[in-house]
Amino acid sequence: MTAAVYRGHLVHIAGAPVAGDVDASLVSEPDGVLVVDATGRVAFSGAWRDLPAEWAEAPVTETGGVLLPGFVDTHLHFPQTFTTDAFGGGELLEWLEHCVFPAESRLADAAFADAIARAFVARRVAVGTTAAMVFGSAFPVAQEALFSRTLQAGLRVVSGRGIQTVGPASATALLTSEADALALTRDEIDAWHGQDAAGPAADATRALAQVAVVPRFSLSVTPTTLRGLGELYGEARERGVYFHSHLNENNRPGDGEIAAVREVYGTRTYLDTYDGHFMPESAYGGESLLGRRSILAHAVHCEDTELARLAETGSSIAHCPTSQLFLGSGTMPWRRTLAHGVTVALGTDVGAGDEWLIPRVLSDAYKVHMTEPGDDAIALHPAELLFLGTLAGARALDQEHVFGNLDAGKEADFVVVRPQDQPGFADVLAHSGEPGTSAHLFTLLLGMREQAVAQVYVRGRRVVARTA
Ligand SMILES: [Zn+2]
Repeated sequence: MTAAVYRGHLVHIAGAPVAGDVDASLVSEPDGVLVVDATGRVAFSGAWRDLPAEWAEAPVTETGGVLLPGFVDTHLHFPQTFTTDAFGGGELLEWLEHCVFPAESRLADAAFADAIARAFVARRVAVGTTAAMVFGSAFPVAQEALFSRTLQAGLRVVSGRGIQTVGPASATALLTSEADALALTRDEIDAWHGQDAAGPAADATRALAQVAVVPRFSLSVTPTTLRGLGELYGEARERGVYFHSHLNENNRPGDGEIAAVREVYGTRTYLDTYDGHFMPESAYGGESLLGRRSILAHAVHCEDTELARLAETGSSIAHCPTSQLFLGSGTMPWRRTLAHGVTVALGTDVGAGDEWLIPRVLSDAYKVHMTEPGDDAIALHPAELLFLGTLAGARALDQEHVFGNLDAGKEADFVVVRPQDQPGFADVLAHSGEPGTSAHLFTLLLGMREQAVAQVYVRGRRVVARTA
């Protein structure tokens, strides 16, 4: 690979700004350029007129579009690729039992698992999601298909098999013994964490393929499982292994998710079950699963003590507004959550979320927070939205130093968005203010559909989904 020069409207959040205060870090250069060096890193990004002389003779790709950082999805479910818009559930626990557990059980079949892995990768490429925290399948054969198909395409993936040791009858195929839950998780870490990192300078913590420890949620495991996973994670976290699960999603009184967790474990808070305090009255039971590489999805109904603990441990939240609308889970309080200093990134939560394209979920984020009651309502700035869907995701994945924006030195993960490829979109954008303004960026983000995602690059290499 030699140096490559891409000319277009360059848009990203530069530097490493604090969430809630990113407007000043917005770079929007209508006649911009991105130079990718032979190692796949950003060598220069900025105005075309400032292109350094050393690349003046390099061939230029005129993209005719917008150059954005690759989108980062911090929560989506691989085995639910074909389960978006599934009717017959209602709220979370019913939807899991009636729609999700039966659908996920099909991945025990190797041929089906490979087909759904190919479809999953193709969907990610189509929507420009270059990095993702992927909630995995219970079945090792399906996880092998996921990792190998993702690496074949050239996308980033963090994933782990969904761990369940207890559940309703419809989840029977997904359950394992306590011992197998630990053994299969260990095997997956050894097989896939940093699998593509090679050579003497191999660094698993920035490899394309990395592994997470992923209990589905506290109701899918037992204190015994959590104790075992705590021990396992205590050893694995040094290698950069992640922890991922769900937290405080459904608060229906009496028999909803949070009420059930409190009843089953007898803890003071839901978060205590992931924080080593999973015995009655939140007594200590084992090692914590929280830390800089821990991402909890939803966190819609957190108590202040839980938000403070997430921030203290460097754990992050995958905010999934589209899914929360679908399952009637409520809205994560934006101002209160950010006020605690916890990192908030974005998740599609496919399949409860029925949008794959991160900007579609940003659109829902804008709408749900605009609709919060009273003084809690907020109109998120378009720079804040772009941050949420790109750099905040890299931060949540503890890889902000690797990707997330188009600063020189980062690995070149980017998408080319061509509004003219989406019917009607170029006309709307042409009437939404000058390129480079906040108004234009707002329309770009909220109006974008996947037809406009023209090209996707990871480490400077074009990503292409293979269908066979
Ligand atoms: Zn989820």
